Amino acid sequence: MLYNAKDLMLEAEKHGAAVGAFNVTCMATITAVLEAAEELDSPVILEYAPIHDEEGIISLEEIGPAMVAMAKASSAKVGVHYDHGVDFDKIKKALDMGFTSVMYDGSILPYEENIENTRKAVELAKKYGASVEAELGKMAGVTMTNDHVVENRAIDRSNFTNPEQAKDFVEKTGVDMLACSFGTSHGLYTSAPRLDTELVKELRQTAGVPVVMHGGSGVSAEDYRKVITNGVRKINYYSYMAKAGGEAVRAEMPEDGVLFIHDLYKIAKKAMKENAKEAMIRFMNKQ
Ligand SMILES: [Zn+2]
Repeated sequence: MLYNAKDLMLEAEKHGAAVGAFNVTCMATITAVLEAAEELDSPVILEYAPIHDEEGIISLEEIGPAMVAMAKASSAKVGVHYDHGVDFDKIKKALDMGFTSVMYDGSILPYEENIENTRKAVELAKKYGASVEAELGKMAGVTMTNDHVVENRAIDRSNFTNPEQAKDFVEKTGVDMLACSFGTSHGLYTSAPRLDTELVKELRQTAGVPVVMHGGSGVSAEDYRKVITNGVRKINYYSYMAKAGGEAVRAEMPEDGVLFIHDLYKIAKKAMKENAKEAMIRFMNKQ
């Protein structure tokens, strides 16, 4: 069933839980994530990030319609989200395809410009009944600007989201959820992340909307528990699931070295599904 991300978030809030938003890059990732959600009876968000087009992996035009169709056909509650949008044509294209939420990422822009563009994204999404995520503060790790990929591994507290600014930003833009910087990083972690979990609580209270955590794979069980309890309702998760898929293929390489592409997908899907399930169980925040 296709759901609006905002509704999934509000429901998660009632249960003190978060919804996993899994980036998908092929049919194997879509089916891995959906089967995991169906078996656990967990809500889920399928997410497409334009960085995967930039890297030559798959385009929105190729995978977007499949994401929406498979979300509709699933027995789980599924949101379909466009991640890290910087290009309004692409954001509109995703909405035309039936995506139920979009992110506008103006985090690298001057504050007023981020407000202005985010407001434009909110107006556009409203016409489709879709919800909008925006970003305030700067995330470390691999990210994308208008047309190129940038990498900045340093986690710098001065880039963390400011609660007062978050309040002002949400009031001026009308966004439904806010991606905040509080210590996570995109991609694989080179050292254990140190999250400011108290800042999450403050941000949730001042901003008045659910907090989104990017760079959500590779975080300790304890930190997941704390940030969800403090107001994170959407967790973007990809790198460690994708790595689990790749590692399974390497581990199960046939002795004769002959590997067919369909077997590769099958092995990777099984491992990614298990990894997604573990993440979903954590996000339910019951343990
Ligand atoms: Zn992100």
